[in-house]
This record gives sequence, C-alpha cells and structure tokens, in this order.
Amino acid sequence: TSRHLSNASVEEEKTLAMIKPDGLFSNHTDAIKKVILDSGFHIFEEMITQLNKDGASSFYAEHSSKSFFSSLIKYMTSGPVLVMVLEKENAIADWRNLIGPTDARKAKSTHPHSIRAMCGQDLEKNCVHGSDSLQSAPREISFFFGGTLSGTEATMHDEL
Ligand code: GDP
Ligand code: MG
Repeated sequence: TSRHLSNASVEEEKTLAMIKPDGLFSNHTDAIKKVILDSGFHIFEEMITQLNKDGASSFYAEHSSKSFFSSLIKYMTSGPVLVMVLEKENAIADWRNLIGPTDARKAKSTHPHSIRAMCGQDLEKNCVHGSDSLQSAPREISFFFGGTLSGTEATMHDEL
C-alpha cells in the first residue's frame, strides 16, 4: 500500500520476542503468531534454537543472584525456544503489554486477554519473553541474531 511505500521515514522499533520451552511444547506457536501479526507487528527474523546453561545464564544475567535463578535456567534449557525480532512503531512497550504480567496465573484474572494468561501456567512457566527497554532490546536481539560476528554467543545456543 502507499502507506508502506512512504513508511521509510517512520521510526520503526525492534524488540526480541521469545516463545519459551513450555509455549513450544504445548503447541501455542500458531496462536501466538496470529496475535503478533493481528497486532501489526512484522516478524523481521525468526529462529528456533535451544539455550544451553551458559546461554540461559548469560541471557538472564540480571537475575543471577535471585533465589529462583537455578530453576529459571533449568526451565529455559528444558527444550527449544522460538526467538523472533518483532518490528513496528513502539514495538518494545506494545509487545510487553500484549504478553501481560510475569505471573501467568495472576494474569488469568487481571489480564485475561494477555498472551501469558492464555498460554502460560505460573510465575515461572509464562510461555513468552519480551525485551523490557530500549537498552535490553538491541542486546537481546544481537544475543540471538548477532551471527558469527558476536563470537562466543555461538557457543551459548544452537540453531536447530
Ligand atoms: P519478565 O521480564 O516479565 O519475563 O520477568 P523477570 O525479568 O522479572 O523474570 C524473568 C523470568 O524469570 C520470568 O519471565 C519468569 O519465567 C521467571 N521468574 C520471574 N520471577 C520469578 C519467581 O519469583 N520465581 C520463579 N520460579 N521464576 C520467576
Ligand atoms: Mg525481564
């Protein structure tokens, strides 16, 4: 459309979205992708991969001192994940709003239409991830999509 042709000057933003192991395992991928596309995001890149312990620990380094860290790493390495770079105006905040609060169990009453309410189970197994800021989004995108230029990260997750 003409809107798309004139879009070059619009400030598009990119964020990292992830369908976590529980979301892939329980076949929520198609439903989640439908919400993504219906909400106006463009899937710029996507990849199925599996985090190893080093990769999950690096990705969630900000939580390394938390009591739930080892449980989180076990969960995040329990199976493949689908990572996607989503693009649209205000992508970071809009994707966080779509996924809903961290605790999927609480989300079922407070944010029943959120993705975590629909697909998640509890405070840990909440089926999806989203970058939380302008700082974390590019870091998380290059963690998965930085390619060979980012060196050591290649050893932290394996493309499937
Ligand atoms: P998010 O940004 O909404 O994903 O939440 P956080 O950055 O606070 O936490 C990262 C991830 O760790 C969450 O998505 C959950 O999977 C997990 N998590 C967060 N808080 C807890 C907790 O208190 N207990 C457990 N077991 N897992 C948690
Ligand atoms: Mg977070």
